[in-house]
Amino acid sequence: MMQRRRVDVVVIGAGPAGSMAAAELAKRGLKVLLVDKRSQVGVPVRCAEGVGKVGLMRYFAIRPQWISAETDTVRLYAPNGDYLQLNQGMQGLILNRRVFDADLAKWAAEAGAQLCLQTYACGLLMDRGWVRGAQLQGPKGRLSVRAKLIIAADGVESRVARWAGVDTTLALKDVESCAQYLMGGLELDPPRCEFYFGRQVAPGGYAWIFPKGLSRANVGVGISGNYAGRRTAKEYLDDFVARVVPGGEKMGFVTGGVPVSRVLKKVYGPGLLIVGDAARQSNPLSGGGIIPALEAGRLAARVAVQALAEDDLSERSLCRYQKAWNQSLGQSYARHYRLKEAVTRLPDKTLNATARTLRATEPHRLTLFQIFMTALRNRPSLILDIRHLFRSREPD
Ligand SMILES: Cc1cc2nc3c(=O)[nH]c(=O)nc-3n(C[C@H](O)[C@H](O)[C@H](O)COP(=O)(O)OP(=O)(O)OC[C@H]3O[C@@H](n4cnc5c(N)ncnc54)[C@H](O)[C@@H]3O)c2cc1C
Repeated sequence: MMQRRRVDVVVIGAGPAGSMAAAELAKRGLKVLLVDKRSQVGVPVRCAEGVGKVGLMRYFAIRPQWISAETDTVRLYAPNGDYLQLNQGMQGLILNRRVFDADLAKWAAEAGAQLCLQTYACGLLMDRGWVRGAQLQGPKGRLSVRAKLIIAADGVESRVARWAGVDTTLALKDVESCAQYLMGGLELDPPRCEFYFGRQVAPGGYAWIFPKGLSRANVGVGISGNYAGRRTAKEYLDDFVARVVPGGEKMGFVTGGVPVSRVLKKVYGPGLLIVGDAARQSNPLSGGGIIPALEAGRLAARVAVQALAEDDLSERSLCRYQKAWNQSLGQSYARHYRLKEAVTRLPDKTLNATARTLRATEPHRLTLFQIFMTALRNRPSLILDIRHLFRSREPD
């Protein structure tokens, strides 16, 4: 028999976006159901786990258990093997997302949200265009939950927003196909984040080595379907590994998609808010989605609290979330998107020339601003975007 329930908010997906939203809502005394189809939050980890330390500190007092490695150096490799090294403002963390994601979901549960794992959202309860609840399939059978608001936090492959009639289509050029090994047996002293560029390495994207200690690392490749032809991300990754870390031991393998697009035109609907990768809110230049997911979850919860207090879940009320997003990261990510479009088109010879021009600059003097200005010096229309982006801070 179908069970029925009623809550204030159902959050679908217990990734960083969903757990943040659920925690913030539950803290304010709302009745929240946080569901995830997985049996263990955050597992398997489909992420290189890199975040800016300063960015993460805006949300939490960072727990040591979350961190696999800390780095303050970044190397950017040109296609010909020359590299630029930066260590100015490059404080990065490589998280242990298995622990991080689990802690966030636990935090939401401790705040009062009911966390239901192995619970798959398979449809929405709709009434004349309004979202009124969700159909769930859990370990004990089917459940129909009526809610004043649904938060779609179901990641890059999101279906929830589509069920509500939102167009979530991603153009081929706006999604990176990624493949990643967790590798051991490496020599990573001192640990640093390495990025490799070039048409042969990762067309339309980049390859990365993010240390998870002194001998283990996430080694991955993200490619754009527009430039990669028929070869898969795994094929590019295997070539990369054979060339750059041939002695490493492969300990795990994951694939996944990363949206590098503009944010959805509408991240809300009547009775619906869309957050994180589901709303295409990741940084289109770097592909980093952890920090923007946290930001989106927090902003969505703030707007939801107000809308629920006013008992107005209409689009007119919920559009405040889109405005808040634009003011927070959205406008800056629109500039990141324009830069991404230009950078992914740069030929290898320009990338090599950029490395050659800046090679002599000391790592503590070299900035991302200089690198972008050099690489894109023939694109004057982008100079304002670059200036604007790096005036206040480095990208996440
Ligand atoms: C290979 C790779 C490397 C990456 N590296 C980085 C990096 O270094 N740094 C960075 O910042 N970002 C990185 N990202 C991106 C980052 O992982 C995401 O942007 C981030 O996890 C988005 O958070 P989210 O909460 O929106 O979605 P997710 O973390 O994807 O969470 C969505 C959740 O929804 C659940 N779900 C989906 N559908 C349903 C359903 N129907 N019912 C119930 N539950 C459902 C899923 O099980 C999942 O737990 C990487 C991504 C990939 C693929």
